[in-house]
Amino acid sequence: MRSDIKLVLEGERMATLNVAPPEMSVKTSNRAGVAGVIEQPAAVVQESAYVTAITQFDHAVQFLNLDAGLAQLLKVCKRELTVSFPVKMDNGEIRVFTGYRIHHNTARGPSKGGIRYSMNVTLDEVRALAMWMTWKCAVVNIPFGGAKGGVLCDPKKLTLHELEGMTRRYTTEIAPLLSPEGDIPAPDMGTNPQIMAWMMDTYSMHRGYSVPAVVTGKPINIGGSAGRNEATGRGVLYTVREAFKTMNWKFDGAVVAVQGYGNVGSISAMTAYEMGCKVIAVTDIEGGLYNSKGIDLPKLRQFRKEHGTIAGFSEAEPITNAQLIAMECDVLIPAAMENQINRSNAATVQARMVAEGANGPTTPDADRILNDKGIIVIPDILCNAGGVVVSYFEWVQDMQQLFWEEDDINHRLERIMLRSFHDVYDSSKQMGVDMRTAALALAIGRVADATSTRGLYP
Ligand code: NAD
Repeated sequence: MRSDIKLVLEGERMATLNVAPPEMSVKTSNRAGVAGVIEQPAAVVQESAYVTAITQFDHAVQFLNLDAGLAQLLKVCKRELTVSFPVKMDNGEIRVFTGYRIHHNTARGPSKGGIRYSMNVTLDEVRALAMWMTWKCAVVNIPFGGAKGGVLCDPKKLTLHELEGMTRRYTTEIAPLLSPEGDIPAPDMGTNPQIMAWMMDTYSMHRGYSVPAVVTGKPINIGGSAGRNEATGRGVLYTVREAFKTMNWKFDGAVVAVQGYGNVGSISAMTAYEMGCKVIAVTDIEGGLYNSKGIDLPKLRQFRKEHGTIAGFSEAEPITNAQLIAMECDVLIPAAMENQINRSNAATVQARMVAEGANGPTTPDADRILNDKGIIVIPDILCNAGGVVVSYFEWVQDMQQLFWEEDDINHRLERIMLRSFHDVYDSSKQMGVDMRTAALALAIGRVADATSTRGLYP
């Protein structure tokens, strides 16, 4: 089994459709003659996250007076690794998985970014997510560059033992790119603290000693940070509350709808509830819930703990995802995945504010429609940055082997989110543009500055 490091050359990258690479449809057999099955994506996604990321970059960069070569450098991924690797399944079958780890830019520090397990993972999706990580770290001004990784798989269809085996082999395959000083993964869709623990343990086994700072989002008993699990959702709500204050809107009792009920969605919903908002609707991949009086979220949490799903909760009516997107509310929080608000449904959005918990949930076409309707969009690279901010705290704590209290972490997180919100909001007013363009311009400008200060090697 061999890993290829592909270096991206200037001008090589072109926006491509988000389709599966051809090699993934091949069936194989190993030397012992055991049939090997290669994981295949469920469906071709029509709107590419990579096209969205490039379109956003091209738009924002027009507001900066950047050298054309420097702009081209910031647009491409620095380093891309594709790995194919075998895992022995519980029934004795060998299955071959495809995974990726991509570094977009490291001018401001080691690269940071999550690991995604999903049947929609493609090279282009990982490129887009890595690029957004660079801008996100720059917009909240933490000393990291951007990376992302993923494995094409459905984690729900793997046993715990298979999931562990796959995670350990994937970690080994991408290990040449990882280190506390070089590249630090974290959880994303389909991954969780346990998976981070297996990644950290695998990396440490190869070194011969514990290296907790090589991943963040770990369980607390092996060097994780208090408040990391909740950080993204909390950060979303700190930002939304500050936005309401800035607009002179009443936050207490604000009506909220949340798409996606995983880590980011469920914590955003619960934080909104605890802050006095009325959460009237939530959805996940299996369905949704609506209650005009507000959903009792502690009861829903208990229900999901017992049943493993939100479907069937009796104190709300079932709704579809399309109904949730079109819900009359103050704040719509898309917290599932990319391209959920697009040209086919953006006109139906009735919220006053869209707070992007997910990465890339709004396509450029949809952005224009929302702007025309006067809907405030708090962009992903600002709104959901709480996760990477507390990941940064976790990395700092692991490096110095000195751990902070959760209160302290939440205060530091809130300070950074509020400062970053005002940096972006003030820039948007000065530039006369929407907050996404302002956030991207701020971030791209900071990365460009760091690149110029460092100078080009050799
Ligand atoms: P997760 O796997 O914990 O949850 C994803 C949720 O989305 C699940 O409830 C799933 O059922 C739901 N979902 C998926 N497709 C859906 C659809 N079409 N309609 C409705 N619901 C759907 O993942 P997560 O970690 O919460 O990540 C969610 C998003 O937030 C992703 O875009 C991720 O990149 C982004 N994000 C995550 C973090 C983090 O700290 N976990 C940080 C920043 C951004």
